[in-house]
Amino acid sequence: MLHLVWSIRTHVISLLVVLATMLAAPAQPAHANAPSVTDVRLGKSGETTRFVLELSGKVEAKAFTLADPHRLIIDLPALDWELASDFVPSGRGLVGSFRYGLFRPGNARVVIDLAGPAAVSRSFVLPPDAATGRNWRIVFDLVATSDAAFRQNAGWPDARPSAPVASAPQPDMPARQPVSNARKVIVIDAGHGGVDPGAIGGRGTREKNVTLAFAKTLGDALRASGKYEVHLTRDTDIFIELRERVAIARRHNADLFISVHADSIERRDVRGASVYTLSETASDAEAARLARKENEADVIAGVDLGGEVDEVRNILIDLAQRETKNLSVRFAQTLIPKIAEVTPVLRNTHRFAGFRVLKAPDVPSVLIEMGFLTNSDDEVSLTSGTWRQKTAKALARGIDAYFAERMAEAAAQ
Ligand SMILES: [Zn+2]
Repeated sequence: MLHLVWSIRTHVISLLVVLATMLAAPAQPAHANAPSVTDVRLGKSGETTRFVLELSGKVEAKAFTLADPHRLIIDLPALDWELASDFVPSGRGLVGSFRYGLFRPGNARVVIDLAGPAAVSRSFVLPPDAATGRNWRIVFDLVATSDAAFRQNAGWPDARPSAPVASAPQPDMPARQPVSNARKVIVIDAGHGGVDPGAIGGRGTREKNVTLAFAKTLGDALRASGKYEVHLTRDTDIFIELRERVAIARRHNADLFISVHADSIERRDVRGASVYTLSETASDAEAARLARKENEADVIAGVDLGGEVDEVRNILIDLAQRETKNLSVRFAQTLIPKIAEVTPVLRNTHRFAGFRVLKAPDVPSVLIEMGFLTNSDDEVSLTSGTWRQKTAKALARGIDAYFAERMAEAAAQ
């Protein structure tokens, strides 16, 4: 019936489950023949924290740890996640919090933020149990360990896998059409995705879903005008590294890059949209906080940043980027009044800080925080199709105005 093989190589736990086929597949899975995760549970017993994934089918899982911040990564094949839409992960014991979702095509991932240095003491698979109604379960038991031991074992299981950059989806990747028309190229970047949910609203709204829906609506509005060639960095619920988002804009020789986000903050009365451009020096503490948060997307998804940390600084000292920065600022300033026509905006709406996703040296780039998922009014707006339509149209008017200004300038020269 069940063959369970697991091998433990220092910090690596591989689980291979081969099982019979009597389990009904979920209705209309997003991934053909993929098992579903139907529940995620956390328990604490004495010194042990138990993390359980309940699944409908056969699955192979690999776990490894990463340091700074301390995380446990569980890599799985593509799965459907059939959790309640308002399910919000919370922590317990050694699990500070966790996230789940698609990491790259064919590869789902769970990222657990550890509350302290910890090791997997045991992992095993339990078959379905008719008596309790439980389905297949993968169980990880975590125990506290010393920081030194944790660091010694942390790292990629094998040689570091080729960065997702190589295997990441490359939506719209076919080479840009030969420049046979004068259409401006706009790359719209739906923030977060897959294993990185972004901010989470009071009603469980995920930023990653809000940004994707808005990016699609904006893309449709721009294409409908016939004036633009539009590409999305992602058109599904999948994780993409920040540097890959920048690379997509550059590969398309984009004339504009627009990264779409929604914010969250402790104070629930704060609401409104804001627009950000790149700067080495943040305009205020709030902008610096936001940039730190948005720049953590790769860490959140369990990516090792290696030596990338100083990239923003390195690029900023390049004077060649000054023109791009100027254009980014002017685009932001053109955009804001249009946004303010249809939705509340923050005071000092245009702010700047060191956002990694805005660092293409040759593509004018802005990051738009469309509102706060922590504000109930904004959360209603951000999840409304009507709001998306009118806001996308307002942005399209801003984009039209920006290019009209550029053309007028070019004609005057
Ligand atoms: Zn964001």
